[in-house]
Amino acid sequence: MSHASYGENGTLGIEAVSLEAIAQRYGTPCWVYSRAAIEAAYRAFEQACAGRETLICYAVKANSNLAILNLFARLGSGFDIVSGGELARVLAAGGAAQKTVFSGVGKTEEEMRAALAAGILCFNVESEPELERLSRVARQDGLSAPMSLRVNPDVDASTHPYIATGLAENKFGIGYVEALALYRRAKQLPGVCVVGIDVHIGSQITEIGPFVAALEKVLEFADTLEAEGIHLEHLDLGGGLGIRYRDEEPPGFAEYLARLSSVLGERRIRLLFEPGRSLVGNAGLLLTRVEYLKRGPLKNFAVVDAAMNDLLRPALYQAWHDIVPVRPRAAEPLDWDVVGPVCESADFLGLERSLALEPGDLLALLSAGAYGMSMSSNYNSRPRPAEVVVDGPALHLVRPRESIGSLFASERLLP
Ligand SMILES: *Cc1c(COP(=O)(O)O)cnc(C)c1O
Repeated sequence: MSHASYGENGTLGIEAVSLEAIAQRYGTPCWVYSRAAIEAAYRAFEQACAGRETLICYAVKANSNLAILNLFARLGSGFDIVSGGELARVLAAGGAAQKTVFSGVGKTEEEMRAALAAGILCFNVESEPELERLSRVARQDGLSAPMSLRVNPDVDASTHPYIATGLAENKFGIGYVEALALYRRAKQLPGVCVVGIDVHIGSQITEIGPFVAALEKVLEFADTLEAEGIHLEHLDLGGGLGIRYRDEEPPGFAEYLARLSSVLGERRIRLLFEPGRSLVGNAGLLLTRVEYLKRGPLKNFAVVDAAMNDLLRPALYQAWHDIVPVRPRAAEPLDWDVVGPVCESADFLGLERSLALEPGDLLALLSAGAYGMSMSSNYNSRPRPAEVVVDGPALHLVRPRESIGSLFASERLLP
């Protein structure tokens, strides 16, 4: 992960701040993000887009802390949202509705109204009933909703089945035959206005082939639409570019854009991208402390104070996060299953990790900036950790640790 390294004193830090200092100040577990790493990733993506009219719409669900959204807004980024809650966050963080696209298969009338009132750039529509609803809701408000259809190109993204979204069997998007009929329908509907086409084939994709295949199919389809007099102002190519968690070798932004650009050739249509993980994943870590070492005949368990409710990815996708000591020990390492206190056997953060540990040691779960805090829960009535952003030598608390009282403050007893 970027911007984390061992300093001269032999302990792990992020930018110029040591993780020991963060643990001392804010306790553990604690989410730690690097401002420089986020900005560097965004600028690298932007740089790779040079020469084409592009809008980067950061996928809010990857990490939706207001401070992070505000950083993206300051960089000029747009946003990809999937709920009314995410829209409210974007607006509260100073993001521009005019640079925001709304994805997802289940938009409610209320969410549509809020997005129309805010003046978003585009609704990415995922079904016929959604199209009909959008037109009706917009008409009621005397508006016309700018929209794309999210097509499903039926390409295999070779990623974990839970994060593949571009196969015919997935719930996302619309197949081509139906999409053509729906674009014709959209042309007749009074409350919608076709502005683009959208495709998103999955997440943590580490090869370029599936992106190229999807783009080729979308371009062919766009030509069919143009021939029918349905004009597109933009192509939204979604997100999904993978990052290195362990030994993956995903293409960099420059290679990704260059390959797509060569498929696009002379076409001068505006491009939208919806990157999430590739902008924030390697900019954050989860800091945790070893509570107990539990040696057994078959397994050794290191019980830490972070758990699956904080970082769900290992339990949900068997995902790998590097786990490294903040202050490495010279002793002989042992194999440890790094587990949390939650009452589930799926509550592990890493299995069979070779580490030299003592109780009280600090560990960092790397590459946890995306789909970490945003997927967390309060399961087992565990307050969510604090979130901090490191900015050079400065440390900013961007969300305090939740209090136990706040967990049930809004609950009511029966009369
Ligand atoms: C989740 C999602 C993204 C972001 O995916 P990453 O893999 O984080 O880049 C973009 N667009 C849509 C529609 C999504 O659902």
